[in-house]
Amino acid sequence: MPEKIPYLDLAAQLRPLRKELDAVIARTLDNCSFCLGPDVAQFEKDFAKFVGVEHCSGFNSGTSALHVAMLLLGVGPGDEVVTTPFTFVATSWAISYVGAKPVFVDVDDATFNLDPKLLERAITPRTKAVMPVHLYGHPFDLDPILAICKKHKLPLVEDTAQAHGAKYKGKTVGTFGEISCFSFYPGKNLGACGEGGALVTNNAAYDKRARSLREHGSTVRYYHDEVGYNYRMEGIQGAVLGVKLKHLAKWTTERRRVAHRYHELLADTPLQLPREAAWGESAYHLYVVRHPRRDDLKKHLETNGVGCALHYPLPLHLQKCYANLGHKAGDFPFAEKAARECLSLPIFPELTDTQIQRVVEVIKDFFRK
Ligand SMILES: *Cc1c(COP(=O)(O)O)cnc(C)c1O
Repeated sequence: MPEKIPYLDLAAQLRPLRKELDAVIARTLDNCSFCLGPDVAQFEKDFAKFVGVEHCSGFNSGTSALHVAMLLLGVGPGDEVVTTPFTFVATSWAISYVGAKPVFVDVDDATFNLDPKLLERAITPRTKAVMPVHLYGHPFDLDPILAICKKHKLPLVEDTAQAHGAKYKGKTVGTFGEISCFSFYPGKNLGACGEGGALVTNNAAYDKRARSLREHGSTVRYYHDEVGYNYRMEGIQGAVLGVKLKHLAKWTTERRRVAHRYHELLADTPLQLPREAAWGESAYHLYVVRHPRRDDLKKHLETNGVGCALHYPLPLHLQKCYANLGHKAGDFPFAEKAARECLSLPIFPELTDTQIQRVVEVIKDFFRK
């Protein structure tokens, strides 16, 4: 039996960093700064610099950061926020948490991202913000979306949870919106050893209030200016992320190497391959191919020891939790087609060329049958 190829190999990433991680975790145990603290503060500075923004505040998850983004923009009951139905559910959770309504706009068939051509007709007098997602690490088309936001005086929030270091026309994503939110869930391009997230902005007032909201609505201990949350980043996660951030640019290069090798080797298969738009430089959080016989191909890969995954099998408008929105199959045809056909192949910085060739071999074997 040939070597199994995991869909994601976090252990391979941790191995060479282990000594350094042990040391910074030990330091946290020594200084007992478990909630926020100096390592989180340093990571916030370093990550703000990496993205190219003025302010970064650390959170206990990307979901929490998105929730606070909605609070900062004053989104509340009766309001609407325009977003994509083809994303991880946390994007729309943020909208639901504040009692607002997610208004979905179908995705573009090529990039799987919110289609700018469909955006304007979704805007109503109740719309308070626009929140697309840089899905799979590929930027959404910022210029036309920013133009529509400007015309309607709506703030843009970037869900950058999958796109650390991705670029739009040469500029890092996360710098375009009023607010952008990152996730450091272990499997993300920059992952903590546990949960983590960040909210970045160039607006000092948003940053100040984000820091208060993540810490029980207080800036002075035991004095609470508004109802807040316990959304603080843990000290250990700040320390771990500080170590890993130094490798992020190199890891993105490696992800792009893997993607380009797949492009090359899979070009003559019937699969529809991900393609970068002319204006985009993907961070390749995922490498997602498409085929109408996706379910059979998935079984074939798994039977032959190749890990794969579905991102995502059911668009948000058809989820049980959003039955109250009254959507039906056919409402967002491109999101639904993507959900039926997409298949995420193994991609991580440490994936070797031999492993890539093995994945491709198994795929080619499927189409020979
Ligand atoms: C992972 C993810 C989130 C949520 O981040 P967590 O850190 O897991 O809470 C939000 N949006 C998208 C698109 C994600 O992929």
